[in-house]
Amino acid sequence: MGRFSSKRVVLTGGATGIGRATALAFAREGAAVMIGDIDDRAKETTEIIIKSGGAAVFQRTDVSDPVQAAALVQRCIEEFGGLDAAFNNAGVLPPTKAFHEMSQEDFHRVIDVDVKGVFNCMQAELRHMLGHGGGAIVNTTSVAGLIADPGMAPYVAAKHAVVGLTKAAGVEYARNGIRVNAIAPGLVHTPMTDRWLADEEFTKAFLAASPIGRPAEPEEMTGLVLHLCSDEATFTNAQVFVMDGGQTAH
Ligand code: NAD
Repeated sequence: MGRFSSKRVVLTGGATGIGRATALAFAREGAAVMIGDIDDRAKETTEIIIKSGGAAVFQRTDVSDPVQAAALVQRCIEEFGGLDAAFNNAGVLPPTKAFHEMSQEDFHRVIDVDVKGVFNCMQAELRHMLGHGGGAIVNTTSVAGLIADPGMAPYVAAKHAVVGLTKAAGVEYARNGIRVNAIAPGLVHTPMTDRWLADEEFTKAFLAASPIGRPAEPEEMTGLVLHLCSDEATFTNAQVFVMDGGQTAH
């Protein structure tokens, strides 16, 4: 028996990185996990959970499509009988480019996945939670949702928007028993950041500026997500929680 036994969780971006680690952490605590991702490697995440005696289903989902986002939530209800918590975590990065050189395509792709994807999933989740006694939602923003990293204008804009969506819904639905919070990771060692961490110059500059002196591992993000989705956090709402080893305080 874990903190999430008999709880049902929708999670996006569960193929790799933070989403995969969090899906496994939810399952270890007894949750049934409905994973949406465009990457079929999310099936491997469900296989690990099922092998260890848990419940998990993968549905290929492009979160930028509202129909697919709604279908993901619907599938969770059909498979597991309801929805108690959601982790809207899928995201993409643009190529690193100066603001004035960023293409329309790069801008739209990041906004479509990182902003509209979170919006689409939240709408579907809220529509269900409103009629069924509430729930908890956690979105993944970034330290780039609070400060501006150079060369990533669409991502900075998108992650600031996720902060806005989190606060808007947290305020709007608090009296309906729905809490909405966000995590803002600093640099985490995942496939998304492989290209940066492979760059010696980047790594040297990052390590020099980071109080903790290393990137996080995805597993270090999971504890707070689970806490925010749990009954330990019943008065925590419409907030953003930074996990960056002290980077933004430095
Ligand atoms: P990742 O690339 O390992 O994970 C992202 C996941 O999202 C992948 O499984 C990918 O297939 C999925 N995805 C991408 N587009 C999708 C779409 N349209 N529909 C559904 N799924 C889609 O990277 P990660 O670092 O684990 O990223 C997870 C989240 O954390 C992202 O929102 C990212 O912006 C955020 N984040 C990451 C870092 C970091 O340093 N890694 C820092 C701050 C925030």
